[in-house]
Amino acid sequence: MRIIGWQGFTLETPESCDLTGYSGDFKSGYFRVDDSEELSVEIRWGTESERSKKEPDPEARRDTYFQSLQKEARKKKLSVQTKESDAPKRTQRPERLVSGFTWTGDKKAYGVAWYCRTCRRMTLAQVMGPRSGKSGIGNTAEAILGSIVCHSDDPEWRVWAIYDLQTQIPAEYDLVSQQLMNVYLRLTFARGAARLSVEQWSLANVARRGAYLDLWLAANAKGEMRQARYTVDETETQGHPAIALTGGPAFGTPMMELMKQTSRMQMPATRFSAQAWECEDSNKLYLIEGMRTFRGRDWVGDVVRRTLCHTNI
Ligand SMILES: [Zn+2]
Ligand SMILES: [Zn+2]
Repeated sequence: MRIIGWQGFTLETPESCDLTGYSGDFKSGYFRVDDSEELSVEIRWGTESERSKKEPDPEARRDTYFQSLQKEARKKKLSVQTKESDAPKRTQRPERLVSGFTWTGDKKAYGVAWYCRTCRRMTLAQVMGPRSGKSGIGNTAEAILGSIVCHSDDPEWRVWAIYDLQTQIPAEYDLVSQQLMNVYLRLTFARGAARLSVEQWSLANVARRGAYLDLWLAANAKGEMRQARYTVDETETQGHPAIALTGGPAFGTPMMELMKQTSRMQMPATRFSAQAWECEDSNKLYLIEGMRTFRGRDWVGDVVRRTLCHTNI
């Protein structure tokens, strides 16, 4: 099984699946995970306002979804049969109001809509497979739906896991940009002017070709390191030799960025820190970097410890 973590959700899918689509943010959004053949998982969510007095109804959410399915089907001149059903047992949790469903159209889908009192999100999740229902899609769907967690046990941290990367980021940081390729991944998070990035290169031996790690990174990093000046120290992480970078914003263009931050009434981010290492067992290179305010907490070391490398293979 593979763990996918995105915008506060985690789920377990077959090894062949990975993230193939996403939009929105923690408050409301969508993502899709599939095996590029028959099996796909879709999760949509929205957050209930703090001010609303009445708890939202997952049955109403499901019915709205049924209507949108019917509308879509009419456009394509297809027919779709929608049905209420019992939500799989493992999706029924004490903090959730739950409503199950299935539909059959050009595909067969098993889904659940739920409202979670803890994260205040209304979620609609579904697993789709071949219309015939073959390859045990019903059981697979039940296992995947049952594995979906909509908020982590530790409210300070969120798991982000895609394409062999598995890390955790402080919950107060929001994803602001990303680059997702098979050989290179970058997730960048922000909180005010502060930034935090995780970069992962696959095929590290081919990419680096024995170059010094700090020089190689200076030429290849796309996160905060690009706009930093720093000193380099040797350290160790997860049993690997590593480098630690400390400094601040580089002179030149980034100063303009600092001015912009100041004019937005934000504390400017003036402290840079990073750690990088190569994991020979997984043949990957990792760079965790952050630019923070003078008083802001330095999360880099914690994120490094929460980023799995060879323990993940
Ligand atoms: Zn939740
Ligand atoms: Zn390792």
